[in-house]
Amino acid sequence: MFRRTSTLARGALLAAAVVITPITALGAAAAPQEGTAADRAPAAAGGSRTVQDPKESGDPNTSERVRDVVFAIHGGAGTLRREDMTPELEREYRAKLTEAVRTGQRALADGESGVAAVEAAINVLEDSPLFNAGKGAVFTTDAENELDAAIMDGATLDTGAVTGVTHIRNPISLAREMMENSRHVLMSGEGAERFAQHRGMDLVTQDYFFTERRWESLMAAKGGESDFDFGETGTVGAVGIDGNGDLAAGTSTGGLTNKPVGRIGDSPIVGAGTYAKNGNIAASATGTGELFIREAVTHTISAQVEYLGRSVSKAAGAAIDRTEVLGGDDTGGVIALDSRKNLAFTFNTSGMYRGYATADGEIVVKIFADE
Ligand code: ASP
Repeated sequence: MFRRTSTLARGALLAAAVVITPITALGAAAAPQEGTAADRAPAAAGGSRTVQDPKESGDPNTSERVRDVVFAIHGGAGTLRREDMTPELEREYRAKLTEAVRTGQRALADGESGVAAVEAAINVLEDSPLFNAGKGAVFTTDAENELDAAIMDGATLDTGAVTGVTHIRNPISLAREMMENSRHVLMSGEGAERFAQHRGMDLVTQDYFFTERRWESLMAAKGGESDFDFGETGTVGAVGIDGNGDLAAGTSTGGLTNKPVGRIGDSPIVGAGTYAKNGNIAASATGTGELFIREAVTHTISAQVEYLGRSVSKAAGAAIDRTEVLGGDDTGGVIALDSRKNLAFTFNTSGMYRGYATADGEIVVKIFADE
């Protein structure tokens, strides 16, 4: 089974099975044609909104609950340790997370929709080489970048999703175009890119996505020197609730380093990596996609809230627990916001890049599990 931290043997197996496309060929192609009382209570003025559920043995999840949240993001869950990060890099991450949260929050404050806020914040993260989405996407077995994204409007259940796109700078924006200007929900590869051209979007060549860091990760994976997905945290996602009370969610990713060509993760799959439904929740997941698809993680959270009346944090915890039953520890995490502005950050890895904005404008960003 695919696990987020897998064995050296798996890396070696993948290395033996693939041929690397020469880098010179990569840039050439132009695009082819029951909630608890605490969850319901308004945030106490000046009081802490955050409740950190302590880790207990047998419960490896880090689960944070925050009240009165209007917007939240994640930048991927995975092996994140202080000792692996320089102070400078940590500052860069926190600054970019803050910029993304602020972008979403401002959009909402300006009266824009939850969908617009989600897109705008994800664009910030897609344009940064720090995250595994857009510019900083990881490489496939063939040393290419195949990107996935989805966006969902909780008011209408309208959804747009794209998978395996290779020439789209901001896949979340293409997903939104798909949602708003086509009759379809999910398109792949060349067809999705033809639609992008039809809508007048600029395409980029594959060399746009080249970063030294991701290249080295690919080489390390092929040499069996690192875990399958080691260090490749960085899928991005956002959830928000706008002035009309409409929920929205989006997710964008390059997938997993050294993923087989054509592999599709959970991010663009409605109900797996991305889901939003008014009155319930908006959620975006990050982790070993195969497990999140099989457990339909984000829809499972929504269904628990809708049918069992569970709090969003309990529902998110149960959904992540299910992925552990399938795949063991370190499967990933999820952000989920309910229609009463309760946010859950739940993950079973040593960290998850994450941040939120409250209704009164406070912005908080975090990286490690123990913050
Ligand atoms: N969920 C993404 C995928 O499987 C990867 C990630 O979140 O890191 O494609």
